[in-house]
Amino acid sequence: MNVKIVSRSAWGAKAWAGTPDQVALDQRREFFIHYDGATHITATGNAVPKAIERTHLAQGWAGIGYNFVITQDGTIYEGRGWTKQGAHCPGYNVTGLGVQIAIGGSQEPSAKALTAARALYDEACRRTGRTLAKKGHRDGIATACPGAKLYSWVRDGMPAGDYDAPTSPPSSGGGSGSSGWDGKSFPGVSAFKLGQSHAAVTVLGQRLVVHGFGRFYKEGPGPRFTEVDKSATQAFQKAQGWTGADSDGYPGSETWKRLMAAPAPSKSSIVALNSAVKPGVTHTQVKELQQLLVKAGYGPILGAYSNFYGAETQKAVARFHNKNPHLKTAGVSYDPLIGKQGFIELQKEAGRK
Ligand SMILES: [Zn+2]
Repeated sequence: MNVKIVSRSAWGAKAWAGTPDQVALDQRREFFIHYDGATHITATGNAVPKAIERTHLAQGWAGIGYNFVITQDGTIYEGRGWTKQGAHCPGYNVTGLGVQIAIGGSQEPSAKALTAARALYDEACRRTGRTLAKKGHRDGIATACPGAKLYSWVRDGMPAGDYDAPTSPPSSGGGSGSSGWDGKSFPGVSAFKLGQSHAAVTVLGQRLVVHGFGRFYKEGPGPRFTEVDKSATQAFQKAQGWTGADSDGYPGSETWKRLMAAPAPSKSSIVALNSAVKPGVTHTQVKELQQLLVKAGYGPILGAYSNFYGAETQKAVARFHNKNPHLKTAGVSYDPLIGKQGFIELQKEAGRK
């Protein structure tokens, strides 16, 4: 089955209060099941993750603490997601993915919820490249969580009705529907369905890596079309300047054509400082300087961006120099004059390459 996850934006999550740490997928070791506590859950839909979010924010946390929340109808909601540190079990928030099945007390978990949790577990193993330990919250700390029913389900190995767990690892060399494909030309949109395998998906991934989108892959591209392939494809499509349906992450013939072509040589977007740019002057590059300063965190520059290298710009440049004393004019404590090297470093700090 496909693991569909309702994104934070789709269920209306609040912005993080603070910044949860990032955790690389290969640091994950355990998959923890939780319940909501002693009280039966009657809420459904988005109200479920929202209620948890409210509680966790009130505890001073950055937001919902579980990596995922699963409701009785089998819907999976994104909390901290795959790569953010959770807040669900002390000592295991980095290595453990925490998943709440939203029931409470003696409430019976639905078959749909258990199936979704099992599918999510298998997806987690696939993404992390290892067999994660199946745990209940009480395996990590003294607690009643996840309740007797869910805990015995975990101890039984998380069986899930009619759902066939994938045999691991996914076979390479294509799958259904790959036969007859020539290995090169656009295979048609039907080759790219989430959770399904096609030899063209491996080629897609390999070409995305060639084009510089390998950062999405924690493990090598494979034949199964996953959210990772979709994200990498979407980033590639956006890099073409495409928007909307043209950048939905599903390859069409034009995406395919461009991926199969050789990548354009990467060129640096770092530019040189015009020597006329100095405190007190008006120059078109001053506006760029101001924007870079703000972007790199040396704002505020009060008032609208302008071409004038005034007091606000000078103060921001001085803040940049205080953070980077090696770029300062020797012997000066307040240095409002941006230099050639400083301008290059500033562009890097602002994210240019
Ligand atoms: Zn728990």
